[in-house]
Amino acid sequence: MSTARLLVDLTNIKLFRAGIWKPRTRPETFEGVGVEALEWLQNVRSTFDLPVTTEVATSEHVEACLKAEIDVLWIGARTVSNPFSIQEIADALRGVDVPVMIKNPIIPDLQLWVGAIERIRNAGIKTIAAIHRGFSWMDKSIYRNSPKWDLAIALKTIFPDIDMICDPSHIAGERSLIKEVAQKAMDLDMKGLMIESHVDPTNAWSDAKQQLTPNDLAVLIDDLIIRTLNSDNPLFKNKLDELRGMIDEIDEVIVDQLQKRMSLINEIGLYKKENGVTVLQLERWEDILKSRIQWAKESNLNIEFVRKILEAIHTESIRKQTNIMNTNNSTDKIED
Ligand code: PEP
Ligand code: MN
Repeated sequence: MSTARLLVDLTNIKLFRAGIWKPRTRPETFEGVGVEALEWLQNVRSTFDLPVTTEVATSEHVEACLKAEIDVLWIGARTVSNPFSIQEIADALRGVDVPVMIKNPIIPDLQLWVGAIERIRNAGIKTIAAIHRGFSWMDKSIYRNSPKWDLAIALKTIFPDIDMICDPSHIAGERSLIKEVAQKAMDLDMKGLMIESHVDPTNAWSDAKQQLTPNDLAVLIDDLIIRTLNSDNPLFKNKLDELRGMIDEIDEVIVDQLQKRMSLINEIGLYKKENGVTVLQLERWEDILKSRIQWAKESNLNIEFVRKILEAIHTESIRKQTNIMNTNNSTDKIED
């Protein structure tokens, strides 16, 4: 109640979230207050005239929430990772009109996220939002979860009519990093943010490191730069079209050069085959990487970016040469 009061005084949040059942990875950590806290949420709603939401992971949770008239439900990352649980929730929601927010699964598997949305949609739920909360991944990162923004963009491409909300608290895992993640989400035109807040963050019973005080949250929200998809400036469109025209020309050159490079690969493949030489020659690959990365450095390009492109080209080159080794000798029979 005290967090809600301050949030209402200091911000214009549209939805109050509180996890009353918390799926925790390890036992003997705080797993939420449970069903009795539904009344606390009802108090927040009636006192502050603020819609409320909580996480559901089982059909019992759904039924209890519907009975308590919780305004919006959300399904957490651990639950989305399990189609049996999602189906159980979907079945409990059949014939009900309540908005549901669906977090991305723990692992970066786009199809699990898509599947969860389909199951909830097939149950007849009309208002669905997706929540991007990042993924468990082995990369070294300053964040608790790897954002993998490309997966959020891929989901939006599959479901353009579904609003995407970002959860920068769970991506960042650390309060000082929440702002930059939130800004990035706004820059990608996400429709909202789900951010954890607590009156006394260091004493929070869960995820203490990522809690912001209502005051810090209000400052963060004020500082966000909200961009629009288009600009009123009449010159903007002209300038953008001009720059995009230049990019189109460059992309055409890139594709044309890639085509030339790939046809050389056909020739090399045939030549290696005639002479009984293997497709992969590690030394040559190492030389290519070394020289190109040096060029990239000299051109001030991001080395990891250039390495990724080279690796993609090399993988394609090996695929093509392997094809050649296993087909007849004529160039026209080589499959692309
Ligand atoms: C939460 O929102 O507090 C939570 C546990 O999130 P997630 O399902 O993203 O881990
Ligand atoms: Mn949390």
